[in-house]
Formats: sequence, C-alpha cells, structure tokens
Amino acid sequence: MESINPATGERIDSYEEHTESEIDDALDHATETFAEWRETSFAHRRTLMENAADVLRENEEQYASLMTEEMGKPIEQARSEIEKCAWVCEYYAETAEEHLQDEVLGAESDAHAFVSYEPLGPVLAVMPWNFPFWQVFRFAAPNLCAGNVGLLKHASNVPGCAKAIEEVFREAGFPEGAFTSLLADSDEMNDVIDDERVKAVTLTGSEPAGRAVAERAGGNLKKTVLELGGSDPFVVLDDAHLEETVEKAAQGRLQNSGQSCIAAKRFIVHTDVYDEFVERFVEEMESWTVGDPGDEETEVGPQAREDLLEELHEQVQDTVDAGADCRLGGEPLDREGAFYPPTVLVDVPEDSPAATEETFGPAAAVFEVDDEEEALRLANDSSFGLGASVWTGDLERGERFARGFEAGCCFVNEVVKSDPRVPFGGVKNSGYGRELAAEGIREFVNRKTVWVQ
Ligand code: NAP
Repeated sequence: MESINPATGERIDSYEEHTESEIDDALDHATETFAEWRETSFAHRRTLMENAADVLRENEEQYASLMTEEMGKPIEQARSEIEKCAWVCEYYAETAEEHLQDEVLGAESDAHAFVSYEPLGPVLAVMPWNFPFWQVFRFAAPNLCAGNVGLLKHASNVPGCAKAIEEVFREAGFPEGAFTSLLADSDEMNDVIDDERVKAVTLTGSEPAGRAVAERAGGNLKKTVLELGGSDPFVVLDDAHLEETVEKAAQGRLQNSGQSCIAAKRFIVHTDVYDEFVERFVEEMESWTVGDPGDEETEVGPQAREDLLEELHEQVQDTVDAGADCRLGGEPLDREGAFYPPTVLVDVPEDSPAATEETFGPAAAVFEVDDEEEALRLANDSSFGLGASVWTGDLERGERFARGFEAGCCFVNEVVKSDPRVPFGGVKNSGYGRELAAEGIREFVNRKTVWVQ
C-alpha cells in the first residue's frame, strides 16, 4: 500500500499488506482479547480512554501532519480533527457507564424486568479517507467503552493514519488485540465479514461500498451501521440574514476542501434574495485561500487523489453541458497536485449530476425557488438524506421547516456538523443506524431483556 501526497504527487511511504494468515491471527487475537476486555470495569475503560485523549493531544502535530501529507487536509483543520478525536474519547470516558446502565422496566408489575447492554465482540469498521482520524475515533471510542474490540479496514490511501491510530490505543494502555488495523484490500473484506469471529460491521463511505458490505453482512445475519454519502440541501429563506448566511454557505461547502459527507452541496435560495445571495456567495467562495495544505493560511487544499478530482470535474462539466451556468471556477488549477478551485454553478437543471449525485469537492450547485413549499420539495428531492440546513430570521419558522426535511441531521442557522453529544446518521441512501451520543454506543450491543419473576 502506498501513501501519495496529493499536493505534489510524490510517494511518501509504502506499507506491506497483511497476509491471509496475519489477518487470521488478528481475528484470533481480537477474540481472545474480547473475552477479557468485556469483563473490565467502566472505571478501567474510562482511564484508558482518557489516556487515549492525552496521547492524541501530546502527538497532535505529528498526527495532523500525517493527514496533511497523506490526503491533503489543510494543517489547521487537521489539528482541529485531532482535538475533536480527543473530545470524543473524553465524552465516552465520562458517559459510557451512564448510557449503558441497566434500564428497569415495568415498575407496576410484580416481576423485576430490565434491559442490560452487553458487548457483541470484535466489530469490523470499514472507514474512508476524508476524516481519517475522526471517522475511526467516533467508532472506536464508544465501542471500546462498551466492551467491544475493533478491527479497522481503513481506506487504501491512508495506511499511515491507520497504523498511527492503532499506536494511539497501544500507547494509551489498551491490551493488544483491542484495536487492530488490518492493512488489506477491500476485496479481502468479504472473507472477514463471513468469518464467525467477527460479530458486526460498520462502514463509513460511499453508497456502492455500503451496499456491498451490507449485502455480505446481511447474508451472514450480522448487524451493520452504514454512514454513506450525502447531497445536503442548504435552504435560504427570504428573511435570512444574508451576510452571515453567505459566510456559512461557503464554510459549509468548502470544509475539508469540499470532501465531506455533510458538506452543503445544494443551495436552494428564495427568489426574493436570490440575486444578492449569488453575488455575495461567488465573492465569498472566491476569497478562500487555495494552496499547499501544509501552509498555515491555506483554507482549501488539494483533492485527496487525482482520480477523485477527475470524477468531480466530470460532474461539473456534465452539469454545465446540461445547461448550468458556471459563475466561478470550473477547471482544475494549472499547477502541480490535485487542486480544484471553489466553483459555483447556477441555473442548475434538476436532473443534472450536481443536482442528483454527491459532488465530493468544492463545487456548489445553486437553485432558485419561488416559495417555502418549493424549497422543501427540492430539498427532499434527493436519493440521499444525511444532513440539511435552513437559514431564516425567524427561529420558529426554521424549526417548522426543519421538521419537514427528509434527513438524519437537521440544523437551523448552523452548518451541519457532528458533535459527540448528538446522534449522527442518515436516512434513504445515506445509510442507517446512528453514531455518537447514547444512540451510537447502543448500536453494537446485545440489548438483553432479563425478567425475574
Ligand atoms: P469509498 O470508496 O466507499 O471507501 C470507503 C471505505 O470502503 C474504504 O476503506 C474502501 O476501501 C472500502 N470499500 C470500498 N468498496 C468496498 C467493498 N466493496 N467492500 C469492502 N470495502 C469497500 O469512500 P471514500 O471515497 O473513502 O469516502 C468518500 C465517501 O464516504 C463519500 O461518499 C462520503 O459522503 C462518504 N462519507 C460518509 C460519511 C458519513 O458519516 N455518512 C462520512 C465520511 C464520508 P479502499 O480504499 O481500499 O477502496
């Protein structure tokens, strides 16, 4: 496996893939460790999880630089990602016991009945490259705290991050086998999913990968959680405060150089504020600094791989060919590395790629609508249902509108974001199941009913 720096095209490092027998040993080891780990106290898990937060903070610069080199994340955003990982470790260190306390049922009955939450065993996590630390920690922190053990199959372009994360847990004092990175190709995952030592699977990634993994796991009657793609609507109503809304619109689209599942991708704007919004939005998108992700002032880095840039450019071109007007960007930058500029498409046809597909890069599609009803119809006219936001000067109106969204994470006057304290996940082709908060830690547990007469 090779790490290639997308800002330069240079090879950074290469890693030996695990052999079949090494994977077999890892599964054995995970199973043995689980038998002991499940018996540990919450207090013990809490201490180790707090250690993991410390290890992350102590090595923040090293881990952040690794992400920047392997997948091009601007360094400042990479540091914030490490801090967020430390936060999710602390969050579950503090709350796991409370989230997994026995729940007493039927107080009026003369029987004593309760639900206890018990770990399942080794859980396979198939993860993407776009938030190479965060996606893994938001799986690992709750699951290790719940008494499960983790097996990570990370995206092939971030093997350095995969190894570094394994090291974080080792340094924090977790036993060998509690968290293992399998350096393996995606087509080797079928055997791992089939293996009876693996009890459940979670995948964060694209819709096709989700379908493939869910189908295989379903055939084995193993539970899955799927966090897939999105094409989040960003709805601007006629009473929105435009200055702030435009700033947030650019932030929503350009975070992580546009490569975020919950990035705002479709901007649906009321006709009364449409012209002003478009003018200001183009200006704001243009003002973001594109450059070397290692530079402190860079806000938009390269796309993570050359093939991903090509895919995005094809979507932009096809959307323009279908009749959209490109007001900003629209061509890869003429420089070394996989750089695509902030791009704004207006008059986007409803059946063009920027309207119907996920655009995983800094390209925004803007739509004009006559009223609130039309805005909601268009917002929900998507096969995805991950996040959604609405922007308005009237909070009650915003809340009412947000209730109509067909999406898992809905925000009023804020960009869609993940936060350890609130559940995260999608509906429709964005997947199912939830991560984070109490819902996240209860996904891979046996919710066992005990009835004592
Ligand atoms: P991807 O190509 O689907 O890859 C994700 C992971 O799945 C990688 O580890 C990949 O391994 C593996 N994979 C791919 N096909 C597989 C198969 N048939 N069987 C088993 N594993 C398979 O996605 P990506 O390009 O890394 O990430 C971008 C996508 O992730 C976007 O669609 C984005 O919206 C989504 N995403 C969703 C969330 C969320 O929370 N909902 C968060 C972040 C990203 P290889 O690298 O070896 O192919």
